[in-house]
Amino acid sequence: MIAAMSCIFCAIAAGEVPATVVHQSERVVAFRDLNPVAPVHVLVIPREHYRNVVELSADVATAAELLEVVAEVANTENVADGFRTVFNTGGDAGQEVDHVHAHVIGGRQMQWPPG
Ligand code: AMP
Repeated sequence: MIAAMSCIFCAIAAGEVPATVVHQSERVVAFRDLNPVAPVHVLVIPREHYRNVVELSADVATAAELLEVVAEVANTENVADGFRTVFNTGGDAGQEVDHVHAHVIGGRQMQWPPG
């Protein structure tokens, strides 16, 4: 798949590009965001290349595992009492990397609504 071959997050999942990995399992990888917007900022991705959360939703097993890892990361990063999970989807939402990823953001007070 051409999209996946040039995908930075596929490369991280394959261990071909360095990242600070905090979780690895058969289907899901979590690593620290390169440009964190909060003390805790972890990205949780499926190893398989889905462009966004709409595509991911068709793979129920992987979507469920990804959410389990979001919860696990929140626990291990000590932000389970207050964190934000974001799936930016499409240009209007500011999605920059076309490999679905859940941002797990915490460790500071956040505002609502987001920008
Ligand atoms: P989004 O705008 O939702 O697509 O977010 C993409 C996120 O990926 C941004 O927060 C970037 O800082 C992050 N990012 C891009 N490249 C890398 C990388 N090589 N390692 C870790 N995080 C990255």
